[in-house]
Order: sequence, then C-alpha cells, then structure tokens
Amino acid sequence: MFRFNDRIAVAVSGGKDSLNLLHILSKIEKDFPKSSLCAVTVDEGIRGYRDEAIRIAAENCEMLGVEQITVSFKEIYGYTLDEIVEKTKNKGLTPCAYCGVLRRRALNIAARKANADKIATAHTLDDELQTFLLNLFHGDPYRTIRSGPSFNLENQQLTPRVKPFCEVLERESVLYAYVKSIKFQETPCPYAGEALRNDMRIYLNRLEEKHPGIKYTLYRSIEKIREAMAIRIEETKLRPCRICGEPTTSEICQVCEMLAELK
Ligand code: SF4
Repeated sequence: MFRFNDRIAVAVSGGKDSLNLLHILSKIEKDFPKSSLCAVTVDEGIRGYRDEAIRIAAENCEMLGVEQITVSFKEIYGYTLDEIVEKTKNKGLTPCAYCGVLRRRALNIAARKANADKIATAHTLDDELQTFLLNLFHGDPYRTIRSGPSFNLENQQLTPRVKPFCEVLERESVLYAYVKSIKFQETPCPYAGEALRNDMRIYLNRLEEKHPGIKYTLYRSIEKIREAMAIRIEETKLRPCRICGEPTTSEICQVCEMLAELK
C-alpha cells in the first residue's frame, strides 16, 4: 500500500479506528526517514458531535507530533451537514448519502492541500463488508471495483487511497484502542441510526456470532468478485466535471448534482 518515501495523509475523524491507524502509522513511519505523515480531518458540521471529535483528533495529533489539516463542509460547499439535512428533509436521501459523497471530495481536497501521495483511511473489515452489501442493495455492484483496499485511478486530481485495516475486525480495533488507552470519541453520530449501514452491521454481527469466520469468508469472496470485475475499470474513464472541474465519470459530478438540489 505504501512506498518508502510516501507523504501519507491519514483521514482522522476522532473515532477509534482512525486514531488507531494514526497511532500505528506514526510508529511505523519513524523507521522510514524519507516518508512523512500528516492527519486530514473533515468537519462536516454536525452540531453536538463533530466538535468533540475534532478536539480529540487534535489532542492525539499534538501528542504524536503529527501535523493536522482540517477542512470543513461550510468552507468548501457553503453549507454544514446540519444545514443540508434541514434543506433536504423530504427529498428521500439520508444524511449519510450526502455526507459520504461530500466527505470523499473534501478529503481529496485536504490531501491535495497537504501535498499527500496517499490517503490512508481506517475502514475495517466490517466497513468493507457493509459497503459491499450496500452497493448491491443500491443496485451499483460495479462500485465494488472502486472501493478496494488500494485504489488508484491515476488521475492527478485524485490522491490514491489505501485501507490498511481492511482485514481487521471492528471489535479488534475497539480492543486495541482500549488496550493502548487511546482517547477516542465514543458518542455516535446523531444521523447514524437512519443509515441502512447500521442494519448491515447488525445483520453481519449476528451471522458472525452464529457462524464464526463468516466475515472473512465473505471478504475473500469479495476479493475474487473484484478481481473478476477488474476489466470494468478500463471503462471507468474520468473527465473534469463541467461545473467544478473535479474528476468524475459523468458529465456533472455527484457533488455538483447534490449542491444543485440545495439551491
Ligand atoms: Fe456522516 Fe452518516 Fe457517518 Fe454521521 S453516520 S458522520 S452523517 S456518514
């Protein structure tokens, strides 16, 4: 996932997974003098939730001596997530649908600001399985190709992404944070309950309880499916969005489509 001289931007939200990743990578990175590490944090603007997470993320960065770059939805898009949720109340999409798309773009903007070669995100094995099922349920199976553990579309505007925890179970990540006494935000996002992802989490955990190891088996199957579909990647041609100029597969990117809905 990494080269010896990479500048790595770790996506740090303030939750346990991203802080674990920051702690582990900052330890490993010390053995590679030509590499460097920074943290990138996105402030989505979620009242009563994100402020605490950003404070905890900043405390961890300071303790580890890692530079932190923060960008916000408000400064990039003109709206906080709370404002977007208010404006789109009856439009059918969940807060997470907006948040996911807008945060991905914001992270990329932050990584460019940081001059990073790679963005490292702390998606766990559980996140990967949930995402795979969500893509199926949303009728977008080809998205699976673009959500692998290491993804690079070779576009100068898009910083390649890697997921070093893609084979780590979420419960192991929780355990690690407690064993290492890493301070992380424990309050869940107020919008999380609305997400289909939550149902996937419960369903997969029940399966794993009844059939230990099934999460790994599913992950291996996804790897094979991804490999078999890799040919489609050739067809994923990127071009600049007609409105904002950011890379996209369609004429107008998803971010601009969402922002147009808010006007
Ligand atoms: Fe965003 Fe949804 Fe995660 Fe909250 S739970 S931070 S709204 S993606």
